[in-house]
Amino acid sequence: MKSWIEISAQRLAENYRVLADAAGADAAVLAVIKADAYGHGAQLCAPVLTRAGAAWLGVTDPAEGASVRSALASAGIPAGRQPRVLVMSEGLEEDAAAVLEHRLTPVVGNAVQIEALAHAAKRHGIHSVDVHLEIDTGMARQGAAPGRELDAVLEQLRQHNEVRVDGVMTHFASAEVTGSHQTSAQRQTFEQAIQQVASAGLRPSWIHAGNSSTVDNQHDESGSHECPLCWLRRVARAASARPMVRTGLSLYGYSLPLERERDYTGPADPLVRSRLQLVMTWKACVTHIREVEAGTRLGYNGTFTASERMRLALLPLGYADGLRRELSGTDIRSGGRVLFGSQAAAIVGRVSMNLTMVDVTALPGVTVGDEAVVLGQGFTADDHACIAGTIPYEILCGIKSARRFCS
Ligand SMILES: *Cc1c(COP(=O)(O)O)cnc(C)c1O
Repeated sequence: MKSWIEISAQRLAENYRVLADAAGADAAVLAVIKADAYGHGAQLCAPVLTRAGAAWLGVTDPAEGASVRSALASAGIPAGRQPRVLVMSEGLEEDAAAVLEHRLTPVVGNAVQIEALAHAAKRHGIHSVDVHLEIDTGMARQGAAPGRELDAVLEQLRQHNEVRVDGVMTHFASAEVTGSHQTSAQRQTFEQAIQQVASAGLRPSWIHAGNSSTVDNQHDESGSHECPLCWLRRVARAASARPMVRTGLSLYGYSLPLERERDYTGPADPLVRSRLQLVMTWKACVTHIREVEAGTRLGYNGTFTASERMRLALLPLGYADGLRRELSGTDIRSGGRVLFGSQAAAIVGRVSMNLTMVDVTALPGVTVGDEAVVLGQGFTADDHACIAGTIPYEILCGIKSARRFCS
């Protein structure tokens, strides 16, 4: 095996319970497993999260939803005990049949989608399809904006009784910013939308908003800022619905650093960050060891020149596997690292498509067949992201290795 991923089922389950505990007993925590569970493998993670207590899973499209349903069935979880599966990207007309077939709950935000679902329901002889209505409160990405746009959607819903609004949701642009003005404005807009939905006579069972940072950012209590989950609870209660928050990144042990709005001076302490544990360890075995003389240039374009005699270990993975090319090292400090046990070895020269060299001059014990940790405790997705100039999300979902379970 070239490189592989070890997933800790136990840590994944524990992270879910930490988040559920932080959200409080009255709020549900939807476990987001889109993008193949952020590179962790949705087929592996869905049953673990279900057994940990997740009543809702979130995917991006019906194809992911279908594969989650089959993974749950293969894991011996009968249809009646499976979580509900929210399809979070607004679909195309042709997605409606798959939504019904796999008992998925689609997020809807436009009239075309509602019509397609209503027609598909009639064709399949299905009495009623639950949907979650997304409100665009300021990201301008998906969902119906309050006012005329939402009115048009509500009118469409009135004409199609088969489509039932089970939830109303929105998504925040800056949940990791404590005291965010943008979030305050989005909250207000969402509250207006909920009023508008209620005035149309609809009674959703769920009101949901927010992500991992919403749970982590619970200290936003000073001044006029209500803590994110306090706000969500209040708004849901007023609508006689249950609150729900949707967490992805933190299930896998990561969280964005909390930032402060410029004029915000209150506390901004992460609530759950320190209790999360990394779920993924990405490993590869050394396939070759060689020694090179001082002056030898390494890899493509010879960007690294050995200043002394060096011992190099070759790892059989590269950017085709999702190892970012920005981790290339022009000297032993500038690039990424891998770990042999607790000892770090620098990536030297360019990361190639399928091969990467690391410096093991100071680690004479490292030999062919030894395991290197490419990403995990000691050199995390945050470290990869920092060097690659991106966010841990992109690092995690970019990993393409074969996977396996370890615990
Ligand atoms: C991906 C996603 C989430 C999860 O976000 P995290 O920051 O990973 O917790 C929540 N809601 C929606 C709509 C999403 O698309």
